[in-house]
Amino acid sequence: MKNLRNIRVGAFIGTLVIMLILQKIIPRRKFEFNFWKRDLSNMAIVILNNLVIFILLPLVPIKMAFIAQEKGIGLFNKINIVTGVKVAIEVILLDLLLYWQHRIFHKVGFLWKLHKMHHVDLELDSTTGVRFHTIEIIISTLLKIGLIALIGASPVSVVIFEIILNSASMFNHGNIYLSSKVDNILRKILITPDMHRVHHSIYKNERDKNFGFSVPWWDFIFKSYKAQPKDGHLKMKLGVEDMPKERYTYFPGMLLLPFLKKN
Ligand SMILES: [Zn+2]
Repeated sequence: MKNLRNIRVGAFIGTLVIMLILQKIIPRRKFEFNFWKRDLSNMAIVILNNLVIFILLPLVPIKMAFIAQEKGIGLFNKINIVTGVKVAIEVILLDLLLYWQHRIFHKVGFLWKLHKMHHVDLELDSTTGVRFHTIEIIISTLLKIGLIALIGASPVSVVIFEIILNSASMFNHGNIYLSSKVDNILRKILITPDMHRVHHSIYKNERDKNFGFSVPWWDFIFKSYKAQPKDGHLKMKLGVEDMPKERYTYFPGMLLLPFLKKN
């Protein structure tokens, strides 16, 4: 289990470093806001979230997968199926769970207040991809544990899923320029930064589109796909209509955002 965790942390740091370099070489939008203040804020919330999960939840998703395997819990532990196919199906199902979880977080009042912390980031870059409210992370972790127990997902599938999810999120929130030709090919199999930027638009009808994290297929299938933002990628405004005071967009003020009266 320790090895799997090390692979995960290694993949996270590796992707982040690559994305930070790419954002410097091929930036898409010019940042008006203090890069370090924003990024360090976003990194602080990641560290806090990991600490909270570590302390509060003795049962993390990987551990659940090991228990399910050992005790034969869950659908796929009861039927015979080729390992490669099993892993592929499990990763896809976990990704589908996240798509619907994301849609529901946009729909339901208090869940939106939690998720809003992700959307009030003043700009969009790879660190936005891991900036989520601690309570949202706890809910999301519990849902994942539930699905893992239900289907009996293997530890390998869980690690593959977590690595894909983290890397894809840092990639599609990345402030990097891809030519429209590359973007158009890539977005058939992967959510590109231009595709996901639409989801961070200040307009609600654009924000309620492109919910996927890794593959774009759920948005195609469930009709929540929007190709481009109305105002174009360089001019479009990011955030929400009722942006909070700036201190609630940075750490630690951002954690209070769901509990503010006005928001
Ligand atoms: Zn969202």
